[in-house]
Amino acid sequence: MLGQQTAADRMDHIPFSGIREIFEECDRLEAAGEDVVHLEIGRPDFDTPKPIKDAAVSALDSGHVHYTSNYGISELRETIAAKFDRDNDIAYDPDQEVIVTTGATEAILVSVFAFVGQGDEVLVPNPSWTYAPSVRMAGGTPVSYSLDPETGFQPDLSELRENVSDRTELLIVNSPQNPTGGVVDEDRIDTLAEFAVENDLVVLSDEIYEKILYDDSEHHSLAAHPELYDRTISVNGVSKAYSMTGWRLGYLGAPEELIDPIIRVRQYTTTCAPSLSQHAAVRAIGSGLHEPMVEAFADRRDRLLERLDRIPGMDCPVPSGAFYAFPTLPEGYEDENEFVWSLLREKNVAMVPGSVFGSNGNGRLRIAYSNSVERIDEAFDRIEAWLADQ
Ligand code: PMP
Repeated sequence: MLGQQTAADRMDHIPFSGIREIFEECDRLEAAGEDVVHLEIGRPDFDTPKPIKDAAVSALDSGHVHYTSNYGISELRETIAAKFDRDNDIAYDPDQEVIVTTGATEAILVSVFAFVGQGDEVLVPNPSWTYAPSVRMAGGTPVSYSLDPETGFQPDLSELRENVSDRTELLIVNSPQNPTGGVVDEDRIDTLAEFAVENDLVVLSDEIYEKILYDDSEHHSLAAHPELYDRTISVNGVSKAYSMTGWRLGYLGAPEELIDPIIRVRQYTTTCAPSLSQHAAVRAIGSGLHEPMVEAFADRRDRLLERLDRIPGMDCPVPSGAFYAFPTLPEGYEDENEFVWSLLREKNVAMVPGSVFGSNGNGRLRIAYSNSVERIDEAFDRIEAWLADQ
């Protein structure tokens, strides 16, 4: 049998994903016939809208089954450049400044590999989605900066200033945010711009949830800021807005000088995004087909907040975007890992421990409301009964 020593040293710092760990356990429970309520994974439960599926079927019938350009098919790059221009007020040349990727996950990985080397530091939000393992795989060191729950999870500028060093290469910003549902304010972007220029940083702006906004919250792209355009990589994708997580289709836009190293990495990762998904994305982007789903997310959010409100201790900043809530644990509980695993084993309700997203998630849970109001109610009926029995 091969031993642990055969894995590369850097694998010591690459844990099995905390989200996937829960998800795999759900799979095992379901295979054994259990009825699991999924509030753990950021995977909308809707079918992909029919016009988008039809576009893929028609691409299949037309024989679009081959490798495409490393940058992506030109029709999609033009659709993406038009979207950046219309929705985000950013001008990217579709021929030189847009790359289609295999999910936003790959857009992030290739950007990190292009700009982060051995010993470089990367400023990563705390809490945040799993950027840190990509940074570590590239040989870099993630250095966290806090998102403050008191301000709706705005980046803490004083912590950014304290934690930046002459090794810092990249600043990662995510808005709307996973796991908190926070949205970065426009005036905060001015300060981030000043900070990025002062420290000569490349900025990776993950905007994959831009279409999922509630109440009167607004999304502002970092690259639309004149000081940030030259140094920003704008990452996006169709997974979340169009319920296309399985199609593996993301993209990035950046000025040509930044694209150059990224495309060279991209040529050696997955070559090109799935061809049928690229044709489907041409139909999806700019279609407005996400709107009914966003309305449904708003109802789900409201229901979830009502249910959280009934449980003492589960304090939750109101999410302004994405489909995650990030409440504190019920009264009397301190350990989010113990809480999540007991709840899953005893009541078949799945959530993610907040600490998976960084130390500021200690004592919190991430609840994904990418599931129906009925299933949210089912989960909370079980939780209330379980808490009453403790
Ligand atoms: N960024 C964030 C903040 C996410 O939450 C996710 C998916 N959970 C991704 C990127 C990756 O999305 P995909 O690879 O499906 O496009």
